Amino acid sequence: MALLRDVIDPELGSNIVELGMVPGAEIDPSGQVTVTVALTTMGCPLRAQIRRDVRNRVATLPGVSGVDISWTELSSEGKAKAMAIARRNVAESAPDTEIPITTKVLLIASGKGGVGKSSISVNLAMALATEGHTVGLLDADIWGYSVPRMLDLTGRLEGAETERKILPQTRRIGDGTLKVVSMGLLVDDEQTALMWRGLILNRAVRHFLEDVLWGPMDFLVVDMPPGTGDVQMGIAKLLPRAEMIIVTTPSRSVQNVAARAANMGRNNYLRIAGVIENMTAYVAPDGTAHALFGEGGGEALALEIGAPLLGKVPIDPTVSPASDAGEPFVLGEGPAAEAVRDIAKRLVDELVPAGELAGCSAHLAGTPVRLQRRGS
Ligand code: ADP
Repeated sequence: MALLRDVIDPELGSNIVELGMVPGAEIDPSGQVTVTVALTTMGCPLRAQIRRDVRNRVATLPGVSGVDISWTELSSEGKAKAMAIARRNVAESAPDTEIPITTKVLLIASGKGGVGKSSISVNLAMALATEGHTVGLLDADIWGYSVPRMLDLTGRLEGAETERKILPQTRRIGDGTLKVVSMGLLVDDEQTALMWRGLILNRAVRHFLEDVLWGPMDFLVVDMPPGTGDVQMGIAKLLPRAEMIIVTTPSRSVQNVAARAANMGRNNYLRIAGVIENMTAYVAPDGTAHALFGEGGGEALALEIGAPLLGKVPIDPTVSPASDAGEPFVLGEGPAAEAVRDIAKRLVDELVPAGELAGCSAHLAGTPVRLQRRGS
């Protein structure tokens, strides 16, 4: 039951144990675990996601040989109680942001710098946009921003005409759209910088979420600062429905610091969507693999934190020159590009479309829960 407190009902934003959705869990002598989960409604589209999260968490227990889920539905009293808890939690924690309720937010995090977190963020956002989605890319790595360089963006963010708000830099990418905000697109410009005068850096991200007119978005990819400091915690609190993706390398020494990033997310009730291993073995043209940064770090981290390994991006000599030239490598060919495109497809397939979320809570006491907009 303690482990299941890590499973967040993505719609209600609280853990399923607190919400009263786990009436029981049984373990038979062979280690087979059966968890009973009571849903708000049997047809809830979140079911697959809850199943995956419950399995991933319980499977980390030593001695567990298998995990079954027995589904049931909350009683009307149970639904009212879950609703009350969700409302209370939302009222306590949900801030006003300009991020639409239907946007899937992906926080790309890492334990330390240099593992390719920014490269993955930029190229994942680009891959999603290429697939026809409207994608926001927030460079929250405010001290070490690199997104503008990787996308060859040189202009400045502009103010909106009608409100005292800022517009993201917007680019059409095939059938999709990419909207970018980065500290690197603000500094140097006196006019805009005036608005930011006196701003301490770790408040900057809050402004990016509250004062940027993001408009409609299918996804918001956030390039998090490395590590687990105040800024990261602030973002987690501002975006309680976000999913975290941890980027790590095959090296086991990186695994420990990466696990800390995952813990930070969990402590803030974020869902961990999975792990991406970057800088996996380089495969030379003659077919020989060179594991320059070791092997197995992605799998080991995924197992340790009970989240899926979303994919492995190999070391690819085209990556660095492409980034330096401001051309995301995912638009070209090569093993890294293929791997990132596959991860983007997997995310689109596996993440419950945010737009469907209203379907479940609408069944709760007839009133949809709005998680990110206070007072609405
Ligand atoms: P972080 O955001 O974690 O600090 P970056 O995305 O800036 O890391 O990447 C660090 C360096 O590694 C950059 O020079 C980048 O081009 C390079 N890099 C990242 N991923 C790969 C890869 N799969 N193959 C080759 N080089 C990579």
